[in-house]
Amino acid sequence: MKNIPYGHQYICERDIGEVTSALRSDWLTQGPRIKKFEEALCKKTGAKYAVVVSSGTAALHIACLASGIKPGDEVITSPITFVASSNCILYCGGKVVFADIENDTINVDPGKIARMVTKATKAIIPVHFAGQPCRMEKIRAISRKHGLTVIEDAAHALGAKYKIGGKWVSVGSCRHSDMAVLSFHPVKHITTGEGGAVLTNEQNIYEKLCLLRSHGITKAREQFIGTEEGGWYYEMQCLGYNYRMTDFQCALGMSQLNKIDLFNERRRNIAERYCEAFKGIEGLKFIIEREGVKSSWHIFVLMVTDGRKRLYEKLRASGIGVNVHYRPVYLQPYYQRLGFRPGSCPNAESYYSKAVTIPLYPDMTDRQVSYVISKVKKAIGA
Ligand SMILES: *Cc1c(COP(=O)(O)O)cnc(C)c1O
Repeated sequence: MKNIPYGHQYICERDIGEVTSALRSDWLTQGPRIKKFEEALCKKTGAKYAVVVSSGTAALHIACLASGIKPGDEVITSPITFVASSNCILYCGGKVVFADIENDTINVDPGKIARMVTKATKAIIPVHFAGQPCRMEKIRAISRKHGLTVIEDAAHALGAKYKIGGKWVSVGSCRHSDMAVLSFHPVKHITTGEGGAVLTNEQNIYEKLCLLRSHGITKAREQFIGTEEGGWYYEMQCLGYNYRMTDFQCALGMSQLNKIDLFNERRRNIAERYCEAFKGIEGLKFIIEREGVKSSWHIFVLMVTDGRKRLYEKLRASGIGVNVHYRPVYLQPYYQRLGFRPGSCPNAESYYSKAVTIPLYPDMTDRQVSYVISKVKKAIGA
């Protein structure tokens, strides 16, 4: 059997056709497909505004800037995430504060967040780990109490939902946050190659994000600070970047977004097979979807009490592209140099010692799923 990766994009002929027609059009970048993709993202998530950018990391960066994070400000996030979730705080000169995780969901623990709040705290960046929504109502309550901005890192969670008062709320709707960030890297739910987006319901935040995406420049007359000197006139009003997405990427993104429900249904279907196959096995756990949420199942993580490294190596030797998500960010050498110390988030470190991510992606075949299940069981002697 061919090697099975832990995650993989699904590109169909239709996607290719959409990209080709964008390439044949007059607009490679800054054209009409940007707005169309943004509108489609709003429709899918329920957010009022979307700003697509060149990566999820760029999205996190401008979300932090739009929150006004500046040197000396503290921002609380999870240690079990990709480094971009906290690097964006450092880009703004902010101070990263890691709050420990919940042992069952592996999401940042709202109780721990509350304990980390100081006078210098400015924002919270919860990460919906593996696609399971964080306890957003609780996080929103903390933010309201202390006047903090909430930026959801929803890179794992396009299509995830949670229930409030009997009603389903989509991640990305910003119902309990100021902004939500998506990534369209090939291992994520939909792809544009590289790409990302910031979602928000606030017009003033939306306008800031648009400026930051493109050099701080506006051509919108109603936003001018000075007087317009002619048709050529534009204003640079803040220090921005070139974080724009191209039109052919938006063409791919829109075509991919049409398939998101099918993608996530298949992801759920595979996750259910794994849950069924691995339940009740001694020394083996996995993240269980808590009551009142629908995970988007970005990844499937096994937690083995004993012999994680052995399991990892055995599966790799069987052609199964297992991975580990994630080593606590503060253990990275760069963060160690900043003064973070091992032992500060014991739950995160304990989780890390047990975690292995096994393959999960929409076009994984039933046969491949069976193969992974049998190899995992064999490797742990179940
Ligand atoms: C992928 C990812 C990012 C960064 O997205 P890019 O598009 O790769 O820049 C940020 N946070 C999390 C949790 C991610 O998984």
